[in-house]
Amino acid sequence: MGSFPIATTEFLNPLDHEQFRKQAHLVVDFLADYYSNIEKYPVCSQVKPGFLTETMPDSPPTQPQPIETILQEVQKNIIPGITHWQSPNFFGYFPSSLSTASFLGEMLLTGFDVVGFNWLASPAATELEIVVMEWLLKLLQLPKSFSFSSDGGGVMHGTTCESFVCTLVAAREKKLSQIENNKGETLGKLVVYCSDQTHCSLQKASQIVGISPNNVRTIPTTKSMNFQLCPDALLMAIGADVRAGLVPLYLCLTVGTTQTTSADPIGILCEVAKQFNIWCHVDAAYAGNACILPEFRHFLDGIEGANSFSFNAHKWLLTSLGCCCLWVKDRTDLTKSLSTDPEYLKNKATDSKQVVDYKDWQITLSRRFLSMKLWMVMKSYGVSGLREFIRRHVKMAKHFEALLSIDKRFEVVVPRNFATVCFRVVLLSESSDEEDGNRLTKRLLESLNGTGKVYMTHAVVENIYVIRVAIGATLTEEKHVDMLWDMVQEHANTLLACSELN
Ligand SMILES: *Cc1c(COP(=O)(O)O)cnc(C)c1O
Repeated sequence: MGSFPIATTEFLNPLDHEQFRKQAHLVVDFLADYYSNIEKYPVCSQVKPGFLTETMPDSPPTQPQPIETILQEVQKNIIPGITHWQSPNFFGYFPSSLSTASFLGEMLLTGFDVVGFNWLASPAATELEIVVMEWLLKLLQLPKSFSFSSDGGGVMHGTTCESFVCTLVAAREKKLSQIENNKGETLGKLVVYCSDQTHCSLQKASQIVGISPNNVRTIPTTKSMNFQLCPDALLMAIGADVRAGLVPLYLCLTVGTTQTTSADPIGILCEVAKQFNIWCHVDAAYAGNACILPEFRHFLDGIEGANSFSFNAHKWLLTSLGCCCLWVKDRTDLTKSLSTDPEYLKNKATDSKQVVDYKDWQITLSRRFLSMKLWMVMKSYGVSGLREFIRRHVKMAKHFEALLSIDKRFEVVVPRNFATVCFRVVLLSESSDEEDGNRLTKRLLESLNGTGKVYMTHAVVENIYVIRVAIGATLTEEKHVDMLWDMVQEHANTLLACSELN
């Protein structure tokens, strides 16, 4: 067989270029086979806890093993424990949208494996990131104030949670710098505002930067207002805090919430924030991707009033995890709060102030060459390809929504904004209540996911249990959505027949 020889007497360099070529080809072939077979696996892994920890050896192998053997083990032991996010029948959470171009970009960036903390450590890593962030700024029609050509600029973080932490720190330091004395006391008085639909990572980020959990105001939203943050409710919360001697710090708005993809009205809420000198961040982790389409851009209207904006290219822009793109209106807000200046990194380029040192825009010092993959994606598909990709998913979601809305047994719970549809089972009999509907909707989801043929997740809004169908996996086509619809009907028939007998 084609196993490569490992002479026990001779040490083979782990980056030997001929071995690299051979083995990398084997892995590419392995993955190509994986994609061609992906629909054969249960979408959500069916293994039990401990499936690996209890079966794998408890020490590493003493002797080297050939790649063929290792790949066989991946196939046999690892793949059963994988939930197949790239399956065309994956409709859970929000998608993670891999593409060939992003994969190749990952190969290149891993192949170079540079540690581009500052400009000098790999000038291309910094400058390509600036180029890509400026391209995206144009594509999203973000205001010029967020551009490097004014006082702003963009940076790539791994995830939105990191962007929350960094903008919170920037806002905190800015606020404290405006206060003459008692900075320590003020720290305990800072308040963060969001809605009950805001992603939980804001809570976590607030905790990390030292905001007391008591000082995170989670303002309730309602179904009747499509789960948007209400400006009056925000104003009231801020007013109460100011009267109590607290210090409003940071407001997080969401375009495309995680539960139902609702969108806060940015313009008017930024106006409120401005009155109280509050930092306003707009989180469009999922839906920001759709805003590259002219027909969705209106969701970002008013963005010029925000201090920072972020979205996750890894959620819907053909880019692998992680790639959160963050822009700030005043880049010195980030650099003033996150800079380090050790002797061993001093260099002429930095001293000249002609370059960006991205280590001062993020949590960690070391950073990956992330722009390589997004640059590859934008070059490979072009703006037209990216827009077409998102439009196809939106069209499929509209189709699924239309199918649901002509069947009286189902209700689309919140209007679909993008390519995620939230629905539930409604019981037609007079004697049934909300709880019955919730129970049945939950059983429908469990029954569908139990087949292994599809995977969806749920949300609970205003005590209503909804099934979320997030259409956005790269391999998903209309036939997969049609199959999902057939399954939804079939399983609902069975469940409703049983529930009528009870
Ligand atoms: C997914 C999501 C996040 C969290 O993103 P991470 O990159 O995993 O931190 C935040 N906000 C919204 C609206 C999301 O959908």
